[in-house]
Amino acid sequence: MASPTLDRVLDAVFRVDASFNVLFLSEPGQHWLGCANAAELPKTFIEVMHPEDVERFKTTCHDSPDAFTCDVRVIKSGTELWVNVRGYPISAVHQFVLCIFDISRWKTDEAVFRHAAEHDNLTGLPNRAFLKGAVDRMLKSEGSPFCVALLDLDGFKKVNDTYGHAIGDAVLIETSKRLLKVIGPQDILARLGGDEFVLVLHDKTAAAAKDAMTSVLFAIARPYDAAPHNAYLGVSIGVAEYPAHGTDYSILLKNADTAMYHAKNAGKNRVSVFQQTSESVDFSINAAIHNGIEEGEFYMEFQPQFDIQRNIIGAESLMRWTSRDFGRVGPDQFIPIAEEAGLMPFLGKWALRYSCHQLREFQQFKPDFVMSVNVSPVQFGGDDFDTQVLEVIAQARVEPKHVILEITESTLMHSQAKTERALANLRDKGVRFSIDDFGTGFSSLAYLTRLPVSSIKIDKAFVRAIEHPSSAKLSDKKLIAAMIDLAHSIDLRVVAEGVENEEQFAFLKESGCNLIQGYLLGKPMSADAMRGILNAPRQATA
Ligand code: C2E
Ligand code: CA
Ligand code: CA
Repeated sequence: MASPTLDRVLDAVFRVDASFNVLFLSEPGQHWLGCANAAELPKTFIEVMHPEDVERFKTTCHDSPDAFTCDVRVIKSGTELWVNVRGYPISAVHQFVLCIFDISRWKTDEAVFRHAAEHDNLTGLPNRAFLKGAVDRMLKSEGSPFCVALLDLDGFKKVNDTYGHAIGDAVLIETSKRLLKVIGPQDILARLGGDEFVLVLHDKTAAAAKDAMTSVLFAIARPYDAAPHNAYLGVSIGVAEYPAHGTDYSILLKNADTAMYHAKNAGKNRVSVFQQTSESVDFSINAAIHNGIEEGEFYMEFQPQFDIQRNIIGAESLMRWTSRDFGRVGPDQFIPIAEEAGLMPFLGKWALRYSCHQLREFQQFKPDFVMSVNVSPVQFGGDDFDTQVLEVIAQARVEPKHVILEITESTLMHSQAKTERALANLRDKGVRFSIDDFGTGFSSLAYLTRLPVSSIKIDKAFVRAIEHPSSAKLSDKKLIAAMIDLAHSIDLRVVAEGVENEEQFAFLKESGCNLIQGYLLGKPMSADAMRGILNAPRQATA
């Protein structure tokens, strides 16, 4: 019945009667269906078809006086396959010839093609085509206001030009991951190309979108470890609101773009909301930090430090910021930005002055109280770091030996002769140094013997690893014990930070750790609260 040529092209050819009983099945068709002998041949074409497709197939078939075509699923050896059926009625005998072409591969390809057409190759995010479709659907539903935010990275070109495309790509992938983490589950994030991204924020007015963009600014401002030297980028963001700033896709995008350029021109790394008039409202972290310093939005909290008998011996000062524009922002978020913006020497000096001032006050309750102050690596950049520190200490009328500067391993590792001279000068005047986050950086004690360091602070990541005696983290315990022994062998004292429970405390005590800091014994607190503790008849919980 079927010609040899057709057999080469088609996977199967059936001849069926009006009730779809199989009268004939081509030989390739028998192989294709996996029928070993005549007994295994299907009785009807219906029985090979997916039950859900039967009605549609029958209707197509009976409604077509001439040839028809229809895609259906067949069940072949237990698996479902898409086939294209072309049917030719043989009216005289009330029969049909059904030519079957296996298109299962195409069906999957189609899904792959559709995904590829609507997604960006590099980041896997939706692309421009997808975005337009999604926004058009939102516009059709004429629902509540929403915002389109156009994001353009600041400084990306430089990273790309300096380190090459592979690193540029890694930075873009990292960017898309950071953005996905901070957007809402309903929001859409798309990449337009290059370093341009679009965010569609559901159910948000421009004012709400501006708030939401705060976390985007901070997410991008963190150093990128995908690039050498932990490159810093920023992002300029333009926001347009539906329906206030446009009622179709291209106008919304164009207005978001205008606002984005405004953000660039106003100094980058900020959010700008589109305005019909020429002026635009914008919010930048840098400006907010500047402003915050002037407005007194920064303050310090103090976390008590204890000896192993649980007596308070001092505190670490920790910086806090409650911003008018951004709300409460953690030091892990704003310090990297202040460092990059060149504001850290100023902010750091302010923190030292504040801390020394409090130290003097705390010493009225406890004369040998010791204050630990964090110092950012960038503060060593200036020529007169040591002079400034000594000046602040003198002005606060405290003694250098009651001040401990917490520095990081990287400050020491990358230190210039200038830094070493400043450290040595301060040490000679009695100021002490502690290595913060010890164990996370370079973990070489060799350089510690060279430099005027008096203690190390074991990072809380290690302390967290201390759990039950039988825990799999035994090696971490050994590591802590070894760090403590090693530090003691070169006359360094050991502070453990992030001590949250009694098990950790017991282990550290047993290992000879000297000082304890952590939520178990005291959280960071206001100066008032600290005074309250120092003033209490018995300041330690025995
Ligand atoms: P850090 O110097 O390692 O400070 C210790 C951090 O651990 C503080 O976070 C503190 O609140 C937190 N912490 C204390 N005890 C516990 C505990 O038991 N469990 C846990 N999970 N955490 C505990 P915070 O205040 O968010 O500060 C973060 C970082 O910001 C500091 O890490 C420091 O690197 C930096 N920083 C804070 N204030 C200043 C400052 O005045 N100057 C400079 N340069 N850096 C600062
Ligand atoms: Ca610290
Ligand atoms: Ca630390």
